[in-house]
Amino acid sequence: MPEYHGACLCEAVKISVQVERPELSICHCESCRKWCSGPFMAFVAQDFHLEPKEKVSHYSSSDIAKRAFCKICGTCLTFYYHNMKQVFVNPWILRNVQGITTGVEVCYDNKPDCYSFDNKTEKYTEAETMAMVDTS
Ligand SMILES: [Zn+2]
Ligand SMILES: [Zn+2]
Repeated sequence: MPEYHGACLCEAVKISVQVERPELSICHCESCRKWCSGPFMAFVAQDFHLEPKEKVSHYSSSDIAKRAFCKICGTCLTFYYHNMKQVFVNPWILRNVQGITTGVEVCYDNKPDCYSFDNKTEKYTEAETMAMVDTS
């Protein structure tokens, strides 16, 4: 599986991650929009490694998920479920990613009317999105 490397805005935090396909998953939920000033775009990853640990904060944004960000510059790094079965990584912090495509838009019913993407995507409501989450 392709492995990518990158860093946050201030480059204090380094990331390495394995991503099967560089396909954007875009979330329009209110938490994601508050977190990163827009829909959260992410690659689905199998796991991630953030170094050094002391420069990273992990915030529980719900009972089932956490968000990791740089303590210094605030760059949003990853969104992940506590069980680590589903991990989402900010694609824009990774270097040398070729052939990025747009895949799915989730929590689409939470999207404000003031923006939309032209790209062809599969769209899921919040209820459909939550049904796809494996919290076991
Ligand atoms: Zn940083
Ligand atoms: Zn979201």
